[in-house]
Amino acid sequence: MSESEHHEVVVIGAGVAGIYQIKRLIDLGLDAVLLEADDDLGGTWYRNRYPGARFDSESYTYGYSFSQELLDEWHWKERFSPQPENMRYLNYVADKFDLRRHMRFNARVVAMAWDEEERRWHLTLEGGERLSARFVISCIGVLSVPTPPRYAGIEDFEGEAFHTYWWPKEPVPLEGRRVGVIGTGATGIQVIAEIADKVGELYVFQRRPNWSTPLNNAPISEEEMAEIRARYDEIFANCAQSPGGFEHVPDRRGFWNLTHEERVAFWDELYRRPGFAILQANFIEIFSDEAANRELSEYIAGRIRERVDDPEIAEKLIPKDHGFGTQRLPLETNYFEAYNRDNVHLVDLSESPIERITRTGIQTSAEHYDLDVIVFATGFNAITGAFDHIDIRGRDGRELAEKWRDGPSTWRGLLTHGFPNLLMVAGPQSVSGSTNYPRAIENGVNWVTGLIAHASDHGLTRIEAQPEAEQAWVEEVIRAHERILLRRSKGWFTGYNSNVEGHEAGKVRYQAYFGPAPKYVATLEAQAAEGYPELVLE
Ligand code: NAP
Repeated sequence: MSESEHHEVVVIGAGVAGIYQIKRLIDLGLDAVLLEADDDLGGTWYRNRYPGARFDSESYTYGYSFSQELLDEWHWKERFSPQPENMRYLNYVADKFDLRRHMRFNARVVAMAWDEEERRWHLTLEGGERLSARFVISCIGVLSVPTPPRYAGIEDFEGEAFHTYWWPKEPVPLEGRRVGVIGTGATGIQVIAEIADKVGELYVFQRRPNWSTPLNNAPISEEEMAEIRARYDEIFANCAQSPGGFEHVPDRRGFWNLTHEERVAFWDELYRRPGFAILQANFIEIFSDEAANRELSEYIAGRIRERVDDPEIAEKLIPKDHGFGTQRLPLETNYFEAYNRDNVHLVDLSESPIERITRTGIQTSAEHYDLDVIVFATGFNAITGAFDHIDIRGRDGRELAEKWRDGPSTWRGLLTHGFPNLLMVAGPQSVSGSTNYPRAIENGVNWVTGLIAHASDHGLTRIEAQPEAEQAWVEEVIRAHERILLRRSKGWFTGYNSNVEGHEAGKVRYQAYFGPAPKYVATLEAQAAEGYPELVLE
């Protein structure tokens, strides 16, 4: 089939990253188009419509910072904004800047191949249409490939069953029904807390418990919003200086310089503070010092014991295999209190694993649970999964999935050697996965836009990462990873996922960079200022 279009730049994905990326390219006057697989924009916020889905970054640190007008106009209604409001926001942004006309929906890229002679990418969409582009910018998300479990009998179930990412658009009636939720990550915890008092019976199928602390959400009044607006410059400056891209600043008094009682008093205060303060504003030692982490974990375990009436259930909800903050921390509202309800039942899969899904419910090694609805809150093929879903062939026909089989290898999360002119926003081994996501996205988009503008100004037609520079970055990613206790955890940060072949356990995939975001950004800015010495520009 012949090619229908050629563009200077193709952006893939209309989520938080793609929306901003296409705006920047259009502002530069470039010929650019955005291809989105779904039938609308919004990415993660379009898809994750499950009850309880909301930000766990403060709304005003999550929103875009690039437009003063937008900051002046938009009123965040809650400290941690819920999914429907987040969709209103993203639509508002797209409409305000007239971006929809640069987006093509239902345009899923299934393959892309680099043409060394023509120095362009040939892209194939689902359905067979082909187009080409000088540069491709991937904005395809870090958690956009959901992974339902691989239990036998899933197709046999006669009730409703879906992964949280595919929660139906039409309201799912839950009142009076028997609902099973498999998975207790950030998603499962939000769903469970939200629906516990709305369903007939709720069965939570927990394989491993997660640490979780209060979100401490609250409405934002007109007056508070006015104060936030007046402080936006300061807010974004604070985020830019903090290691995780939040306003919370790590405590550097020194864990061991304080008494146990002083630490507990501090933690009592942090436990009441909103969002990730308990993690980001805590003593820095908790991430690397086992004894410090153990003491904090014991403190949080005490909080769970206080909140759950049945001591046996409380013990089952306390992680024993990893310390607090060594996996992605889910934040909750009344999650632990849900287990005090008579209609909520914890099924401990570490004692009695699921054997199969049946026509009428879930069969564990101990019991059969009759269910009307099964919710799979079983996570994602994180960070590299979305790349694996596109057949990407670089120089000499080399497959990206093959290059990354045992884990990604990138130049600072932005390019990968052998795949020229493919630029990745929030790519593997960038800081995006481990920080306040939109702050990292804006930095990524700004940097990529700078590089594209540089290419346009200098007539560059080919950009590739130097292999030695890429290798040095991979080594830095591994060093940063090995410095923290997270190195031993079994979560999506390290590429663990029992539902994906080859990602089950054992070998770590170094997928995210855990060094401080400000240093990462400064290094990238220096690269640009020095004319991109670690890239080959032709
Ligand atoms: P997740 O953290 O990977 O959790 C998946 C859960 O499902 C885990 O409890 C896992 O147990 C369980 N599970 C997976 N496969 C299973 C199987 N075959 N049988 C039984 N249990 C199984 O996924 P997630 O909860 O969707 O969260 C992913 C990330 O999305 C979060 O970490 C966060 O970054 C993001 N998120 C953000 C928000 C927000 O507030 N903004 C909300 C939700 C999610 P094991 O631990 O034993 O593997």
